[in-house]
Amino acid sequence: MELPGQQKLSTIQLRARNDLRLKITNGQYKTVANPCVICEKGIEPIGSIDEVIAEIDRYGIPTQTVMCKKCGMLRTDPIFGDSDYSDFYKHHYRELYSGASDATDEFFKEQTKRGKQLRKLISKHIEISGADIIEVGCGAGGILQGIIGDDANGIGCDFGFNYLKFAQSKSLQVFQGSIEALSNNSADVLVYSHVLEHIAKPKIEISEMFRVVKDNGLVVIVVPGVYSIHRHYGGRLSRYLQSAHLHHYTREHLRAVMENSGFSERYGTQGVTALFAKETKALNEINLGTKPSTKKTKRYLKLMLISRLPLSVLLFLYTFLLDALATARRFFMPDGVNDD
Ligand SMILES: [Zn+2]
Repeated sequence: MELPGQQKLSTIQLRARNDLRLKITNGQYKTVANPCVICEKGIEPIGSIDEVIAEIDRYGIPTQTVMCKKCGMLRTDPIFGDSDYSDFYKHHYRELYSGASDATDEFFKEQTKRGKQLRKLISKHIEISGADIIEVGCGAGGILQGIIGDDANGIGCDFGFNYLKFAQSKSLQVFQGSIEALSNNSADVLVYSHVLEHIAKPKIEISEMFRVVKDNGLVVIVVPGVYSIHRHYGGRLSRYLQSAHLHHYTREHLRAVMENSGFSERYGTQGVTALFAKETKALNEINLGTKPSTKKTKRYLKLMLISRLPLSVLLFLYTFLLDALATARRFFMPDGVNDD
């Protein structure tokens, strides 16, 4: 059944979705609690410090999305266990997400374009020529290719074997694994494009970023921003949510998480695309930015809920309002006065 706002799925996507649903309903995937990354609470019963926002994702996968009442950050809770996610990314993710298990030249080209845009942005803050660029979760390597161009050194890592093979066919230096395999102070620029939202324990990942990036280096993070739902997802929360996204960031929430781990923001949009510098100062000396606001998240989500009304309903409400205004005007108009 198609739910309002959900995507239309291809045959491959439908198959992936049904296989995944089966693994969830027959108990093959076990769920664990996923506390708010900022407040680290979340083991309390749902409703005491969290508000349930949605119970299904854009593919129709049962996924509970909650908002932390303390800081307004959205997240999936509960989530699956680590080994279940390994199985998920190995067997279902690419099929579900893109309707294909292999990368294509077209996809690579599209990603390279995005990488070139990122290069432009990064080069305003750091000299890219000759720099060591490392991308974690590089997939087929298009973004990495776009950033390094022909004058920087690039290394990429990922777990998806088919995508890595594609990257190798484009002469990119990649390996199967995570940031843990990288040496200390080895990256001038560390890139995480559409990766951080998939990570269950971002604080551990960010401490690894801190270890790997050089003192004057930068971390580039791109995540789907909550406050960009009106721009990129037709104003529909139901198109934005997907079960593979375990934490949902606004620019402010990402900044708070990064600042708590010793980084300071150099650039940021609500897209979210953000650049962070490794702070050499002590944590308590870093000037923390504006705190994320629960009110702001709530207000925004309410707005998105209104914009979910079909156009026909909005038109009906609009004409009803015009009629009501005309009636009221006639009612209050003194007798004998005609505005024709
Ligand atoms: Zn919180």
